[in-house]
Amino acid sequence: MRNILLFVLFLLAVFYVRRALQPGPRREEGRDSVPEQGASQPPAGEIEQMVACAHCGVHVPESEGVTSGGHFFCSEAHRRLGARP
Ligand SMILES: [Zn+2]
Repeated sequence: MRNILLFVLFLLAVFYVRRALQPGPRREEGRDSVPEQGASQPPAGEIEQMVACAHCGVHVPESEGVTSGGHFFCSEAHRRLGARP
């Protein structure tokens, strides 16, 4: 009986040591925490500028929109419709 207990303790120790040594996606101490207001944005360094569509006014990442005649549009359809005052 005593051997079984020691064996279980040994397994637990191995389990905890392995988990401690593994570099995982665990977030400890909150140092890699995502800012609340930018939760849906890409990580720092990849932040794109949001530009308003000249037709509907929706803000779209610059790379996802279309630029034409000095105006920025959220989509090809709105580019064809043109800018609205
Ligand atoms: Zn638009």
